[in-house]
Amino acid sequence: MANEKTTTMKNRKIAIIGLDSVPPELMFQKLLNKLPNIKKMYERGLHGNLVTCHPPITVPAWMVMMTGKNPGKLGIYGFRHRRGYVYKDGYIVNSTHVKEETVWQVLGQEGKKSIVLGIPPGYPPKQIENCEIVSCFITPSMDKAFTNPPELKNEVLNVSKGKYIFDVTFRTENRDAIKKELFEMTEKRFDVAEYLVKNKPWDFFIMHEIGFDRLHHAFWKFFDPTHPKYVAGNQYEHLDEEYYKMVDGRIGNLVTLFGEDCLTFVLSDHGSKGMHGAFCVNQWLEKEGYLAFKTPPSGVTDIEKADIDWSKTKAWGWGGYYARIFFNVEGREPNGIIDPKDLESEKKKLADKINNSIVDDKGRKMRNSVFEPDELYGTALGDKPDLMAYFGDLNWRSAGTVGHDSLYLFENDTGPDDSVHSMNGIFLMYDPKRNLGGRELRGLRIEDIAPTLLSMYGIQVPKDSIDGHVLEEVVRA
Ligand SMILES: [Zn+2]
Repeated sequence: MANEKTTTMKNRKIAIIGLDSVPPELMFQKLLNKLPNIKKMYERGLHGNLVTCHPPITVPAWMVMMTGKNPGKLGIYGFRHRRGYVYKDGYIVNSTHVKEETVWQVLGQEGKKSIVLGIPPGYPPKQIENCEIVSCFITPSMDKAFTNPPELKNEVLNVSKGKYIFDVTFRTENRDAIKKELFEMTEKRFDVAEYLVKNKPWDFFIMHEIGFDRLHHAFWKFFDPTHPKYVAGNQYEHLDEEYYKMVDGRIGNLVTLFGEDCLTFVLSDHGSKGMHGAFCVNQWLEKEGYLAFKTPPSGVTDIEKADIDWSKTKAWGWGGYYARIFFNVEGREPNGIIDPKDLESEKKKLADKINNSIVDDKGRKMRNSVFEPDELYGTALGDKPDLMAYFGDLNWRSAGTVGHDSLYLFENDTGPDDSVHSMNGIFLMYDPKRNLGGRELRGLRIEDIAPTLLSMYGIQVPKDSIDGHVLEEVVRA
């Protein structure tokens, strides 16, 4: 029986519509009745929460999904990384940092053709056999080579009338401008998606839309009545509905174009929720005696520009959705002071403090989590931090800047932003030929997607080299 189904699948297509940052609370609850296409897929297909990786961030999450490997194996812990153990040099992850094979690479070796539209990090576009690739939102500009094969670029530009939009500028106060560009960008993405589906041969299609993430970051406080800064009757109160509805229409068209022989997945890389504030991790480390300045910062200062006294500094941290914490280790950092044999005990001591002694702005204990990368992932390659800390169940961002009057900020220190990421993304599978009854699946994890897809194409997945598991319920549905 199982064999029969696997064989049948081998002759069918699979399409993934990737919606960055979409939480089940919005798509499957609040807005479901306003989204006729998603609702139909939800009621006739299979759905569930897709638990994301640590950290729940776009880069590495899509690569975890498409390789089946955890961030430790990928050696990718966020967008930006420290270069080795130097104090001030860093780099932004791009496609060349991903060494593991993606689903479309494996399929290409098997002679199957893929369309890959915007999966991050997708710039610079890799040359992969049997793949038509358009790079992602980290692409610096339209002038760069952003497709594989290179001549595909002209087709993308023609479809988008000379202006393809990779991303919007979203951490600004000009909300009207963000809104306009957001809708324009997403419409163009779906125009290109439709063009590729109609004009290129494919067995596997995958696209990514960053617009949801930008909508959430720029407008969360306007449409979420539970957000502390929400004001009833504001002009963007229903913008979530407006945007989700527009995309729902485009998804409906796309699924029709996929045809009756295509199995469609709608997936997100993590969820979103309202931000409570930002916790100033470096100011706290200073208060606890871990960090010292030669000259105290005058005004708000980036930690990399602060005048740190390394001879008295044991640890410092980075801002973002979570705090990356680095220790100043003798023989490892240029001016290290911690004896390498004390590093493990120092990590434990600081992790205990973060877990047990940090309170929020109202004096309540913060629900923090601290991870040590090697323990969390089994193996942690690349430029990993010594500790990873989540503040207040990720409701508090980490602020890396120093020179604030308080440990608690109620604005993001890198520009207007009112949402953070959460651990649950969405999973939706739809087969136009069959009614699967709208069943909910539980225990779905982001690293399970790649092995499940490969198994559906009849490709054996080596169990020891991959962190995910084949979702048998999905393969056999
Ligand atoms: Zn994301």
